[in-house]
Amino acid sequence: MNDLLIRRARLMDEPGTVDVAIKDGYIVAAGGGVAGSARQMIDAAGRLLIPAFVDAHTHLDKALTASREGVASLAEAIEDFQRRSRKMEKNDFLDRGRRVLKMALSHGTTAMRAHITVSEALGLRGIEAALELKREFAGKVELQVFAMAGEGEPVPASPLQELLEEALRLGADGLGGAPYLSEGMREWVDYIFALAGKYNVPIDLHVDETDAPTVASLEYIAAKTVQTGYQGRVVASHCCGLAAVDDARAAQAIAAVKDAGISVITLPSCELYLMGRQDRGLVRRGVTRVGELQAAGVNVAYASGNIRDAFRPFGNADMLEEALITAQVLQMGTPLELKKVLEMGTYNAAAAIGLNDYGIKAGGRADLVLLDASSPAEAIIGQVEKVCVIKGGRVAARNDKKSDIII
Ligand SMILES: [Zn+2]
Repeated sequence: MNDLLIRRARLMDEPGTVDVAIKDGYIVAAGGGVAGSARQMIDAAGRLLIPAFVDAHTHLDKALTASREGVASLAEAIEDFQRRSRKMEKNDFLDRGRRVLKMALSHGTTAMRAHITVSEALGLRGIEAALELKREFAGKVELQVFAMAGEGEPVPASPLQELLEEALRLGADGLGGAPYLSEGMREWVDYIFALAGKYNVPIDLHVDETDAPTVASLEYIAAKTVQTGYQGRVVASHCCGLAAVDDARAAQAIAAVKDAGISVITLPSCELYLMGRQDRGLVRRGVTRVGELQAAGVNVAYASGNIRDAFRPFGNADMLEEALITAQVLQMGTPLELKKVLEMGTYNAAAAIGLNDYGIKAGGRADLVLLDASSPAEAIIGQVEKVCVIKGGRVAARNDKKSDIII
């Protein structure tokens, strides 16, 4: 007997409806007229069933710390966090992280990559809390904890180097940082790749998060990826500078990114709030060249990034809300384009962070969201209810108190 049978569900790219049978956390059959009994049944009644959202870039440690004063720039937001983080205790990280993970789950996110700052001032308090949350939320939200090098630079024998390595020993899933901020960018990138190689973990870097026209760190990271055989295990987040270089330069960098098998994560809601702060009149958006990257065959996902902190005082850990912002800023408004946007927050994000067995197919993990819509366009435009969130074949969150879809 199956654990769960979802009847009459509409999928993103198939006409008509299908039935989806689930057993032991995985989809065993998906198609027309799937037979067999199940312990629990959901009648989707033609609603859209999508693989659960994957928020591939968040800062759980910073989330929900927005101050009343606000900040004037990215540099000020970084300083704001450095100042506050000195006083932050582990319980503070746990409380805020827990609230965000609950918000995310209720909005249909069942996998998340969190960049957690490691610095001399902060030590490993953020990492320890995130690893605790990872265990606490296992079975609800799959959390990837990435140690992000904060304040200072990981120069040889520095305390920061020691802390980053200790974070990996404690169980951090990967390494991150913002080497573009440093004059020693290349050494910095070399070090991250060496340490990641030593512990065999993936890399996810903040790349050229600046209004300036530059692809310096993007191109160096691409070259390093090929040189170290790290293709498919590196993510470049932001890549704002790529938007500002000329078209020929951009095409060159995009080709290098494609050759290196790097996934790009764009953070439109964060860029819109933080970038172009010095501009008057025509304010730059800072969002990277998503269309050109995709046309070149690069995997591009969107993510929420900062959730109610100094970097962005907005956000609800809601990937459907981020989809609407992404669609608007990327000028993707046709039904086909809106489907592509939804894929960027699901399939593409899952591929970027290396989730196996993702998708609605036999053998796929049963992490699903039933949306009160009949198409991706309707879901994004209408910001519809996430009727039911399923994680590992179990109903993990329900927002259908009025209707009665679970039989
Ligand atoms: Zn970030």
